[in-house]
Amino acid sequence: MRTRAHAFSRGGEFSDPARESEFRAERLPEWLRYCRLAFFWAALLTALFYANDFLRFYGRPHFAVAVTTRSILVLVSLGCLAALPRVRGFRELHTLGLVWCAAAVPACAVLLSPQTEAALFFLFVLPIIYILGFPLVFSAAAAVSLLGSGLALAFHLAGKPWAAWELGLLLALGTENAVLLLLLSRSNRLQRREWAASRAAERAGQELDEHRRMLQTLLRAVPAPLLILSRSHGALLQANAAARRFFGEAACADAGAIRACFQAGDFARLTENPPPAGEVAEFEARVVPPDGRPRDVLLVTTTAVAGGRETVLAILLDVTRRKEMEAHLQWLASTDPLTGLANRSRFFEESAREISRARREEKPLAVLMADIDFFKRINDARGHDAGDAALRAFAGLCRSLLRGQDLAARMGGEEFAVLLPETGREGALVLAERLRAAVEGLRLDGAAGGMTISVGVSEVLPGEPGVDAALSRADHALYEAKRAGRNRVLAYGVASAG
Ligand code: GH3
Ligand code: MG
Ligand code: MG
Repeated sequence: MRTRAHAFSRGGEFSDPARESEFRAERLPEWLRYCRLAFFWAALLTALFYANDFLRFYGRPHFAVAVTTRSILVLVSLGCLAALPRVRGFRELHTLGLVWCAAAVPACAVLLSPQTEAALFFLFVLPIIYILGFPLVFSAAAAVSLLGSGLALAFHLAGKPWAAWELGLLLALGTENAVLLLLLSRSNRLQRREWAASRAAERAGQELDEHRRMLQTLLRAVPAPLLILSRSHGALLQANAAARRFFGEAACADAGAIRACFQAGDFARLTENPPPAGEVAEFEARVVPPDGRPRDVLLVTTTAVAGGRETVLAILLDVTRRKEMEAHLQWLASTDPLTGLANRSRFFEESAREISRARREEKPLAVLMADIDFFKRINDARGHDAGDAALRAFAGLCRSLLRGQDLAARMGGEEFAVLLPETGREGALVLAERLRAAVEGLRLDGAAGGMTISVGVSEVLPGEPGVDAALSRADHALYEAKRAGRNRVLAYGVASAG
């Protein structure tokens, strides 16, 4: 859509007056230089015609008229030339042009009044001078030319008998004026188009420069490491200040060194499988920068075309602390703080996993329920702290006696459960007995007497969906062990082994 700012008048000038005066103001120095030449040559060429006046009219009444008129024109041209350095704007220049035309129009009419060949020739030169000679606005150029040619023609033909060729002369002059005005309009339009285009290109260039500077500032300001990689071969094109701090200056000067900090798959994922342009993707990765400290990072990536090249922008958000915190929270949520053993909820989680595995691999799975005997007495006799120490000592025994795959958990108070993967009832009884014997042999710090446990054993039966049933059977066996005198191991439905 053509906006008013880009529309042209019939004379090829901008329809928008503000834009037109902007154009004229920019062209002023060039036009001033041109007018200096035009006024100078107008004075010189007019003066040269004194010779013609002498040769053609000396001794005739027209001679005095011609010399006077010519002198006026020379003086006006010189006056305009002298006034040019004081011109500050287009309006003043235009006024000066009109002043010259105001003198030239009657002067030329007078000078062309004799019907000589030279006068006839100049009749056709006049519109060229008026229309193309000075940077007048289109309407003024048209008015001056039509008036000037008309007046000169009238003076040229006045007082002589009518001749048939005069109509042709009139039409030819009219045609010349029309063609020249069309030409002026076209030239005006082209000049302004060219000016508008070059200004737009200049502005676009400036904007591009500004954007480039803004991008560089942004890159510097981003506090997270940011890498710009070539998509085709993974070469490092740019690294911001944070990236240089993270990877080190040396690594940032060598694309291979940066690549070596990533796990191979992660770097390939960066360059070989980036998100489509305009979209952002993120994935977690482990990076080992040259300082040797592994970091967990969230890689936020996007693609962009820069300088005709497809690039991948990757921002590394260091999530190492967050990961550690998550792991710590996870540990807190699944661990009994006093003993460091698994807590009740982790026991059930692990049991579910182990039950599915046991079913899949058709392996046995057993559970123990252990309860410290007369624990209340330990608390009462030696204090709560000693009771805590006893609980920790029991946990320590579990850790040292059980196998890697076994899981001991504190279910509450002085009650513990142990999950024994790939273990049948017999194996579980052996392990439980070993645990019981170890507890019996334990010497607690400053303790007068020892500590014993009672243990109930049960297998998880094939087809049981969860550990609850086996746990309650083990609990039942434990109850039986207590009833049978404590400090013993009982399998569900079997007599005491202790
Ligand atoms: P039994 O042989 O029948 O199991 O007798 P018991 O005394 O061990 O059992 P009871 O249930 O009567 O007492 C359990 C005690 O364990 C009561 C409670 O104060 C104590 N207890 C529970 N949790 C803790 C703990 O975290 N620290 C300490 N020091 N004592 C605890
Ligand atoms: Mg107890
Ligand atoms: Mg108890």
